Amino acid sequence: MAYTVSKLTDYSSNALLKAFGEAKLAFREELRGASSPAGWKAVRDRWMARKNGILTQINDRLMAAPKEAKREIGQYLNDLKQFVEKEIETWQEHEEGSVGKLAPLFQSVDITLPGIRRPIGAEHPVIKTTNEMVRVFQKLGYSVADGPVVETDYYNFEALNFPPNHPARDTQDTLFIAGQQGKAQRERLLLRTHTSPVQIRTMETMRPPIRILIPGTVHRNDPPDASHSPMFHQIEGLAVDTNITFGDLKGTLDHAMKEFFGSSVKTSFRPSFFPFTEPSAEMFVSCFICGGSGRRGAEPCRPCKQTGWIEILGCGMVDPNVFQFVKDNGYDPKKVSGFAFGMGADRIALLKYGVDDLQLFFQGDVRFLGQWA
Ligand SMILES: [Zn+2]
Repeated sequence: MAYTVSKLTDYSSNALLKAFGEAKLAFREELRGASSPAGWKAVRDRWMARKNGILTQINDRLMAAPKEAKREIGQYLNDLKQFVEKEIETWQEHEEGSVGKLAPLFQSVDITLPGIRRPIGAEHPVIKTTNEMVRVFQKLGYSVADGPVVETDYYNFEALNFPPNHPARDTQDTLFIAGQQGKAQRERLLLRTHTSPVQIRTMETMRPPIRILIPGTVHRNDPPDASHSPMFHQIEGLAVDTNITFGDLKGTLDHAMKEFFGSSVKTSFRPSFFPFTEPSAEMFVSCFICGGSGRRGAEPCRPCKQTGWIEILGCGMVDPNVFQFVKDNGYDPKKVSGFAFGMGADRIALLKYGVDDLQLFFQGDVRFLGQWA
């Protein structure tokens, strides 16, 4: 935006230094931005014109300054005038000396100009949480697997044992790519509703034993509110080997939760249902905010709804029907077994950082996000 002379209400030394520093910087930027002799001349006239040029405007504005500030203002104004004149002069000399050549100009450095602070980037709280969880499982020998966000119906549903009329296939929940009516159902493209398709994709290319962690974005047709978003993040895990039991599942997850939330948390498994695991469970951890008591002093503990437990993930033993789809790559359900689990990275970040509105994570306001930089 082009520089305009702003109204000064504060005539302290600091305010004057800032105002004149801004004017210098703006002038220099304008001169640098002008790429032709005509452009430079326009900048010169804009700043130096006797009638209504920017320097004249500043001069006029400051006529109203209080008496005690006038001396200081006079010095600053002189300095600014000299600066503008010198830069213009340098350009003119350069122009006259070498016609048509646009060599680098303005080599002088003015150390009175304010410096340019370069903000250092930092991990987004959700990415930070994801990376911390990944590190916990990497220590247990898990590697990270990745897959496409735009998936086929086959990988997102069919190969994960979702029966044709399962409610999750409903267009109310799933965001499909438009204009695919001519395709067979299993080939239709959609935005993956979970990270689970990567389980199938990995088992198609890697023979057992495998231990993988799958972090990534997923999409569902959920209107945004304090706890929902059409785009969110999951972290999923899969371990397949010979003789893997539910005991391995419990031991692994219990260890991982203690590593992530602190050694004092307890885990609790309650029966559940997922199409791709059998048996299935929901895993709770004892509330790491109230220590499992359900209260914070006299107040009820909101994150655990006073129960002392927080639901963290869904898990279970891989359903033999899922292995049937990758049987030819060494996953004979009679010979191998495995467990899988999946959690919402956003929800864990909400709990971890004590944030009560999911939308804050995705609005891109650095004043909010910078708190955890
Ligand atoms: Zn609690």
